Amino acid sequence: MRVVSCDCEACQGMCANSTCLPTPEQVRSLVKAGYANRLATYTWGGRHYIAPAPKGMEGGRDLESTILGACTFFDGKHCEIHSIKPLEGQLADHDRHWQPIRLYVMAQWKGKQCDSVLKALDKPRVSGVQ
Ligand code: SF4
Repeated sequence: MRVVSCDCEACQGMCANSTCLPTPEQVRSLVKAGYANRLATYTWGGRHYIAPAPKGMEGGRDLESTILGACTFFDGKHCEIHSIKPLEGQLADHDRHWQPIRLYVMAQWKGKQCDSVLKALDKPRVSGVQ
């Protein structure tokens, strides 16, 4: 699937109302870049994920949806972490249906890989983050 970049009103609306899902490798990169305290853990379908938190819910645990309000990284027009934004945000576009994109990114989260990322988030000092 091709990566896209669009800042039309519809695309901004996604970030104003929801958060996007990264791959586990991207979570590690976000933690290393110092953003651990802007993330949250999510749980649905019996599986766990880590993603940017909704504004005001940074550090939240076991959120059951990514549609809980504006993303912590949305400044009202743009993504604060545009160059390293999560894969779902890279693939999402006003013209594309969200569900295949979400399922594709969810498929990147499997087994022990996910567990090790969760540990990295709960021990941010290990990754050099205060
Ligand atoms: S990380 Fe960036 S692209 Fe993803 S929801 Fe937040 S502001 Fe939008």
